[in-house]
Amino acid sequence: AAARGQEPPVATYSAELAAATERRRQVLHTLEVALAHQGLHLVYQPIFDLHTGEVRSAEALVRCRFALTPEPGPDEFIAVAEAAERMRPVGQWIMGAVLGQLRAWHDSGVHLPRVNVNVSAQELLTPGYAEALLAQLSSRGLDPQVLELELTERSVLEDAAVRELHLLRQAGMAVSIDDFGTGHSSLAWLHALPITCVKLDRRFTHMLDQDGAADRLAHTVVTLARALELEVVAEGIETQEQLRRLRELGCVLGQGYLFTKPLSPSEFVAFWRQASRTDVGQDTSP
Ligand code: C2E
Ligand code: MG
Ligand code: MG
Ligand code: MG
Repeated sequence: AAARGQEPPVATYSAELAAATERRRQVLHTLEVALAHQGLHLVYQPIFDLHTGEVRSAEALVRCRFALTPEPGPDEFIAVAEAAERMRPVGQWIMGAVLGQLRAWHDSGVHLPRVNVNVSAQELLTPGYAEALLAQLSSRGLDPQVLELELTERSVLEDAAVRELHLLRQAGMAVSIDDFGTGHSSLAWLHALPITCVKLDRRFTHMLDQDGAADRLAHTVVTLARALELEVVAEGIETQEQLRRLRELGCVLGQGYLFTKPLSPSEFVAFWRQASRTDVGQDTSP
């Protein structure tokens, strides 16, 4: 500690900077290798009607294995891919995998109504994005209504992005704003966007069983979301109390570890079959 204390602050700073740069380089390299060699995979987390227990959709979430400690999660590796302007090919792989999965599920009698896919700004801003996606759906014999795109407020700031969304909405695709309550858009702006749903950030869900100000803030965000007259999905539901409060506040849809963590495709099918067979009312079912 004494030796470190003598180091000029600038040297410490640049050592940390070098370590962060090296980690980003390794993350990107692993991701590129995974992309080129079938090393990426998807998991699916069901989205429920909180009142009937019906599975209404599933959110596809990308996974990649890294030999790094701590292991980077999607928040980190997607940010790295975005910074390196490599989210287009990664996003193309994700969408191709989702559509292939949906086709396979439909063919084997698993008629999941919808899949939610996270799309980054870089993908949406690819010229002709909407047209290409609609063509991809039709070549697989899938209706645009089977997809819901999840975008952050930041991703839809540009007019070009909004134009793509209009085309997708006209074709019947659903569009949601992810992490609602954490961005800086005005409600008037959100209201004017061609979207169908907002997803309440899990930070607010987690405030719902706390005391006083936190609970009131969460309550207000749910009320704001409902005022936009859009569907509201609560993310990150972990406790019965959060579920009870959300139902009370009129939030219709939700997902979270209380019901299940994201599942591999085969686990998801088992879960789906079980959920379509059994009634609502078990401890952990919505
Ligand atoms: P997100 O879209 O807001 O996804 C929700 C995150 O919450 C997921 O984390 C999910 O595993 C996690 N989660 C679900 N239920 C609970 C819960 O009850 N408690 C807690 N604490 N967390 C819960 P994940 O999979 O690590 O993804 C993190 C973020 O990375 C996503 O946030 C999304 O922004 C991004 N991401 C993940 N997959 C994709 C993808 O395929 N494409 C793009 N563009 N982004 C993705
Ligand atoms: Mg999402
Ligand atoms: Mg979210
Ligand atoms: Mg997020």
